[in-house]
Amino acid sequence: MSALTDLIYSGSNAVAGLTEGAVNDAIAKHGADTPVVFPDTAYFFPTIYAATGVKVKTLGDLPACVGVLKSLITNQDDLGAALNAGLATAVGAEIIEGLKYVGGADPYAEDSGIGFVPDPIIRSLGVPLVTGDIPGVAVVLGKADDGADVAKVVKDYQSKGILTFLIGECIEQALAAGVKMGLELRVVPLGHDVTSVIHVVTVAIRAALIFGNVKPGDLAGLLAYTKERVPAFVNTFGALDPVVVSAGAGAIALGFPVVVDQDIGGLQVPGALEAVTSHDETAKHSLSLRGIHIKVKELPIPVAFAAAFEGEIIRKADMKVEFWSSKNTTCELVTMRDADAVEDHKIVIDGPDIDNGETEYALATYIEVYGAKMQKDFESVIERKIHAWFNYMEGVMHTGQRNQFRIRISNDAFHKGLRMKHFGEVLYYMIMDEFAAVVDKCQVTLVTDPVKAKKVLDEEAMPAYNARDDRLSSMTDESVDKFYTCILCQSFAPSHCCVVTPERLGLCGAVSWLDAKATKELNDAGPCQPISKEGCTDEVKGYYPDVDRMVHAATQGAVEHVSLYSIMEDPMTSCGCFECICGIEPISNGLVICNREFKGMTPTGMTFGELASMTGGGVQTPGFMGHGRHFIASKKFAAAEGGIARIVWMPKELKDDVASRLNATAKELLGIDHFCDMVGDETITSDPEELLNFLTEKGHPVMNLAPLM
Ligand code: SF4
Ligand code: ZN
Repeated sequence: MSALTDLIYSGSNAVAGLTEGAVNDAIAKHGADTPVVFPDTAYFFPTIYAATGVKVKTLGDLPACVGVLKSLITNQDDLGAALNAGLATAVGAEIIEGLKYVGGADPYAEDSGIGFVPDPIIRSLGVPLVTGDIPGVAVVLGKADDGADVAKVVKDYQSKGILTFLIGECIEQALAAGVKMGLELRVVPLGHDVTSVIHVVTVAIRAALIFGNVKPGDLAGLLAYTKERVPAFVNTFGALDPVVVSAGAGAIALGFPVVVDQDIGGLQVPGALEAVTSHDETAKHSLSLRGIHIKVKELPIPVAFAAAFEGEIIRKADMKVEFWSSKNTTCELVTMRDADAVEDHKIVIDGPDIDNGETEYALATYIEVYGAKMQKDFESVIERKIHAWFNYMEGVMHTGQRNQFRIRISNDAFHKGLRMKHFGEVLYYMIMDEFAAVVDKCQVTLVTDPVKAKKVLDEEAMPAYNARDDRLSSMTDESVDKFYTCILCQSFAPSHCCVVTPERLGLCGAVSWLDAKATKELNDAGPCQPISKEGCTDEVKGYYPDVDRMVHAATQGAVEHVSLYSIMEDPMTSCGCFECICGIEPISNGLVICNREFKGMTPTGMTFGELASMTGGGVQTPGFMGHGRHFIASKKFAAAEGGIARIVWMPKELKDDVASRLNATAKELLGIDHFCDMVGDETITSDPEELLNFLTEKGHPVMNLAPLM
């Protein structure tokens, strides 16, 4: 037998023995009927469920899974068979980790790792992965001889936006070297036992179920999906033992190349298992093995600039200066000008710079652009990106937009030399890079003088915001002559296509009709293509021949008909990254809406994750539909079924968030004041019978509607 297959089998057999023993012990201790579940998932033990279709719910379900696991270990001297044994190790790791959660325990409460990754987090990763904002996923495992090396590799990934999961002592090594961690910083510590690697494996596996519509039990479909669509790879640090090697074989079976830092000579398998002994080369080689190309942004600023810093939080104690609407005048405005009114790359700081000793300043960020193809409608599209770009600077935090924002600059960034002109450079470079197709010249003025900033706010910004709001509110599905497709999510959900209209943004919440229009202008053959409104065949349900034609083509024939306004008949497909899901609540005959962040139970008897698993992956499921938060107050929400009058329950946070807009729509369409007071939430009840009583008592308009089914 070859040395490699030998090592793999030896690891897999060891894991099989450990798993069997652990299952038997757990059954003896707790009883076969004891439930065993991972937190906040609709996919049971995801590896077992995806590979075999078996839904593990209790300890008594596990011995059969151990049988399957053992059957994967054939001990045949063949690399393909040995890779299957690697999958057995993954199943074993899943069971061993799952047993830690018996009885609702939180085994990671005291650990620096997070353990199992809940479904909603995976869904939230959809958009950054498809836009390339997260260009890849690294799994870093083990303990380096020199902790500084592992930290350097992880920081390198972080600066490139790679989402990195850490397993083992490398967590402490990276922490000791000052790596900042957290999901928002794209470095996620999983756990210390090697079995905790399964928590990133199930992220890839659930991506196949959530976005890819891979059917549970379709092992070949699963492996093809992870190989082709999940851009992951593995780096191991330190000595290899058989268990690590067999886990690595599992990764290879999923299509993820493994790079080890030990000299393994003849054990290498080109493209799948390779040795890179110089840590300076680890990241570069790993990315090239997975075909991940990173566009490096070299900006003339003294701090790092990467999407990975978007979620960085700067606390008061670490803060050097602040621009905050509650204390000083602030505004951000992008405005289009004539060619001769814009001097390209002119950056003006009008007022004190941040080194004059104050801690609080006013700030009017005033950006003038000219472009032969620039349109007034694109001003807000560019302006909204300021938030992300400022956040990408390490040591800068930006929240809010328009005239309501807060920017903090850290002491650290200040000491590295960050000043106002660098903010101007970032805006200039990013606008010229991302909006090259529509912007030919750009000039940035940053006004910190409070009197002058107020003048920009009053005379330029407020009138512009008001004009835009008027335009947006007058923009309806009827007032435009085309809609747009968006197929950005197809890299994960191959048969999904959003239809974006003025009154219905993409279900991710990130693509409005204006964004789609700008995307078409920026990238003619790109993900957003126009749909003609000619020949509407049903205005109530929203059937258009060209919608069907475009969606049919965009989904390679997977979807035939889509209605724009019905959730019961040919509803729009869902990919998986939707902000909210709505579903039928049969007792009240209404619709429950649940957002991704809500962890509790809804009156449908399902959590967000369970509701979400009813659809997705590009399928149409009448009665269930993913959508953006903003869509809730739209006059087109479930319009064919009675519209917003169907909404009977939402989590409180979501309800509060949409209240002012939803109340306004209800006033206009239904003549009802304070509609949201009639809508249930978890503080009122999550029980369907009690909800019905509440709705009856409040005189909710759903009471007068015809049954949904
Ligand atoms: Fe994905 Fe639809 Fe959002 Fe486009 S609009 S990014 S397809 S969810
Ligand atoms: Zn999506």
